[in-house]
Amino acid sequence: MTKEAQAILLGKARACVRKRAPYWALYVDSFIYLETPSMETMSVSEHLQLRYNPEWIMTLAVEELAGVLVHEIMHHMSDHHRRGRHVWATDPDRANRAADLAINPVLEHAGWQLPEDRLHPDQYGLPPFLSMEEYYDRLPHAPDKPFGRACSGGCGGVSGNPHPSESEHSADTDPKQGEGADAEPPPIRTSLEQRQLQIRTAEGLREYRGSLPGPLAGFFREFCAAVLTPPVVPWTDVLGYFVREAGEAAQRGSAEYSLRRLAKSSYLRGIPLPGLVEFPPYIGIAIDTSASMRVEDLSRALGEIRGILECLQLSHVWVCQADVSVRVPFTLMAIEDLTSVGLEGRGGTSFDDVFREVREVHPEMSVLVYFTDGEAFPPTKPDNLHVCWCLTRKGQTAPASWGDVVYME
Ligand SMILES: [Zn+2]
Repeated sequence: MTKEAQAILLGKARACVRKRAPYWALYVDSFIYLETPSMETMSVSEHLQLRYNPEWIMTLAVEELAGVLVHEIMHHMSDHHRRGRHVWATDPDRANRAADLAINPVLEHAGWQLPEDRLHPDQYGLPPFLSMEEYYDRLPHAPDKPFGRACSGGCGGVSGNPHPSESEHSADTDPKQGEGADAEPPPIRTSLEQRQLQIRTAEGLREYRGSLPGPLAGFFREFCAAVLTPPVVPWTDVLGYFVREAGEAAQRGSAEYSLRRLAKSSYLRGIPLPGLVEFPPYIGIAIDTSASMRVEDLSRALGEIRGILECLQLSHVWVCQADVSVRVPFTLMAIEDLTSVGLEGRGGTSFDDVFREVREVHPEMSVLVYFTDGEAFPPTKPDNLHVCWCLTRKGQTAPASWGDVVYME
């Protein structure tokens, strides 16, 4: 059992992941592989150190080792390290098992092979495809089997429950402090590197949408939603007035927001979440997809749209894309749709076509949020439409003297 044989096996397992699931290739190549004989099986750290017992991996078939690598990737993509910290103080073993129960059925359903002693919800009489937190709540308090094996409650620090050999956990803030004075601590992936890995993985997943089995597709949808750029604009302050006004007008039975008209075209106005916003305003969002918009600006715009949906507690808004003309007409979108938006355009900029579409196709629209760098001639001021220019960078000038202005940074 030579080091060479171990390296070949690990190489074959990594190649198997890359070939079978190219969307995980970046992840499997971003792990920092660390031989750790004192570890019983394998674990992944928050900083993507993958520690493994070299003798243990030789007991696995290539397909099983590939399955375990993907299992560890899913811990990181699921943010189990952070989520585990919320529960590990009370029962870290249970948190570890709960995390594995959330992963294993999804992988096996997608045809991945895992070691024979992997945990499965069947063993506890629980259904598959629940979250880590749901399994944690339903699992018995005391572990019913010894802690320690990969895919079986033993992936270490993954749930805030590091093995003694996972010394990088003492290096969370300063990697130099992790080991003895003369020992060079192993490298880690910084928060920025992890973030880049997550964004590139989320972007790469777009082309596989529709070709993945249901539970795995659902897992990726959640991952992509979490990776989207977090919003910075306080949308509750910027647009909250319109939500309140729409609700009050509807309750008054005014002509503009009458109950009759709302019922007739309620799907047009976005579907309110139960009990939260009864009469959502008719909000449109335009994304300037011209060449002068940077890729990160477009990514931020998608994050801000998510912010609008969350802050105003709406389930859908109308989104259109335009450069010199409308490329994608106004379409109803929910949060989960934002992760799979293909942006179209990259020509010059004109706002006229979007305002024409609002006037002709969506005359009831009350608010239009326009994400742009502002570099075009002002459009004609619309009647009965409140416009909010959301500019990519501070200091940029809004294209018109009318409308509100907010910045994405
Ligand atoms: Zn695990």
